[in-house]
Amino acid sequence: MPDAYPITEHTYDVVVVGAGGAGLRATLGLAARGLSTACVTKVFPTRSHTVAAQGGMSAALGNMGEDDWRWHMYDTVKGSDWLGDQDAIEFMCREAMPAVLELEHYGVPFSRTEDGRIYQRPFGGMTTRYGEGIAQRTCAAADRTGHAILHTLYQQSLKHGAEFFIEYFALDLLMDDAGACRGLLAWDLDTGAVHRFRAHAIVLATGGYGRTYFSCTSAHTCTGDGNAMALRAGLPLQDMEFVQFHPTGVYGAGCLITEGVRGEGGFLTNSAGERFMERYAPNAKDLASRDVVSRSMTIEIREGRGVGPLDDHLHLHLEHLQSDVIEKRLPGISETAQIFAGVDVTKEPIPVLPTVHYNMGGIPTNVHGEVVTSKAGDQEVLVPGLLAIGECACVSVHGANRLGSNSLLDIVVFGRAAAERCAELITPGESHPPLPGDSEARALESFDRFRHARGSRPTASIRLDMQRIMQNNAAVFRTGEVLEEGCRLIDDCRATMEDVKVSDRSLVWNSDLVETLELDNLIRQAVVTMHSASHRTESRGAHAREDFPERDDANWLKHTLCWLRNGTAPEFGYRPVHLETLTNDVQSFPPQQRTY
Ligand SMILES: Cc1cc2nc3c(=O)[nH]c(=O)nc-3n(C[C@H](O)[C@H](O)[C@H](O)COP(=O)(O)OP(=O)(O)OC[C@H]3O[C@@H](n4cnc5c(N)ncnc54)[C@H](O)[C@@H]3O)c2cc1C
Repeated sequence: MPDAYPITEHTYDVVVVGAGGAGLRATLGLAARGLSTACVTKVFPTRSHTVAAQGGMSAALGNMGEDDWRWHMYDTVKGSDWLGDQDAIEFMCREAMPAVLELEHYGVPFSRTEDGRIYQRPFGGMTTRYGEGIAQRTCAAADRTGHAILHTLYQQSLKHGAEFFIEYFALDLLMDDAGACRGLLAWDLDTGAVHRFRAHAIVLATGGYGRTYFSCTSAHTCTGDGNAMALRAGLPLQDMEFVQFHPTGVYGAGCLITEGVRGEGGFLTNSAGERFMERYAPNAKDLASRDVVSRSMTIEIREGRGVGPLDDHLHLHLEHLQSDVIEKRLPGISETAQIFAGVDVTKEPIPVLPTVHYNMGGIPTNVHGEVVTSKAGDQEVLVPGLLAIGECACVSVHGANRLGSNSLLDIVVFGRAAAERCAELITPGESHPPLPGDSEARALESFDRFRHARGSRPTASIRLDMQRIMQNNAAVFRTGEVLEEGCRLIDDCRATMEDVKVSDRSLVWNSDLVETLELDNLIRQAVVTMHSASHRTESRGAHAREDFPERDDANWLKHTLCWLRNGTAPEFGYRPVHLETLTNDVQSFPPQQRTY
């Protein structure tokens, strides 16, 4: 019998879960449209992971050379290996220019050109004239763009009267019997109280789940809690097999060295001092898309051309760049390289290795951020009252591989779109219908069970097992055999959660319980990722199968949907890729061979 938890009640028009770039852009938009808005976040807003975004945000402003949002759209479709939905990509690339200018007006301190316009740098896969030239499209605030955006959006949200519930851990969604989302339960980490938030819409903006892996560029808080809430609510996750490895994580530490470094002229070499990317991507070279560069690096290391005593990493050079480029455009990188690799970037190369960085998969949505679910052959069905935006969502603008600087764009564009959609659907102050009697009990079930868990396995030991399995069995290159083994191992690992040991039973600042709840969330996504990867028998974007090396549009030009219910094996369905555009005045891009 679960403990009785006294519950503090709140009602709002809309509740946003997450105060990263996506959550804050939605919160600001909702409050500005007169909807009573709460933002619930487990970390202080400006500590959300968006703060770490370095390189910038793409938009075809054309400040530093010719550009066109249609070229941006083409690059994004190609970058996605044609798995991205072209209506959503069109929407994002069209909205990019006003989105950047809006951020500038809100106060984001973008770096400037000599004549005072927003500075833009080249980034991987961003081209002009449908692949002919290299575009300068990524708007940057030095190498601290996410930091600048996050602080500005937080200030604007406060200015518009949004209310923040900071260091509240969202536990689960409150769903009614008809499958609509009606609210959420959250645990105040400071007082230990449980809070019920009722709302006409819940917007999930809880970020990615990089921490399923041993080596990643994500913060410890990136545990994909919203994705796991969706799974527990009986909803599917989409395209979870597509996990992006960033080419330049610092060897041994995993921290990111932004692609902006290669955008400013940095390059990679192997043990022979060769600029090997010239062989793999003769046109784009070091600025090919991330999946291509990560795979090329992995091949170099496998074939014995790695550097260091174990020949197990590669070199990234900046020594040849002018010192004012490093000082003005990449100041944070010099510091990161010094602290985490002991390297002075003006004198020696940085040791780097592909590292898990971004999740293309997530909660399926339409271009308004509304959550959709469908099984093969069925019509898409909306989940009333539930939206998802940012890295936890799969719109899908990134398809099988995200282009660098398209995520800051995604979070701002779709954060705004979700707020606009809520403003269309909800009248401020509407009354809230009663909730089903057992909805809290369902939402508190895992919380109470883990709080009293008296097994033999510490949380950290199960987490380490999970991270090693993911690192070994769902890596840059995959085979059927390795993935099948991975499915067995990760299923067994999930089963060990029954034997987890939580030592602290208190409700106040119980980090043992927080980490266990996060692990429960992570492990569900690890299971879905591994099984989805085993399921997809082709190579596309970040999903590189050595046993199925070709892209297979005849059988696999479709989104994977995966459901994971308690105590059962994953179930699969599909959603068609939207190859058509949103409006008639722009052409779609039929699938082609993808070379850089
Ligand atoms: C090192 C690094 C550099 C990057 N650089 C770039 C770049 O230059 N350009 C680019 O486009 N992209 C970049 N990216 C990717 C981009 O930064 C992220 O994809 C994006 O910031 C994610 O934003 P988000 O709002 O979806 O999530 P986040 O910023 O991760 O925010 C998640 C929010 O959810 C909250 N939350 C989560 N779980 C709960 C819970 N249970 N209860 C309550 N609150 C919860 C957290 O408190 C947080 O506020 C980079 C990523 C990394 C790792």
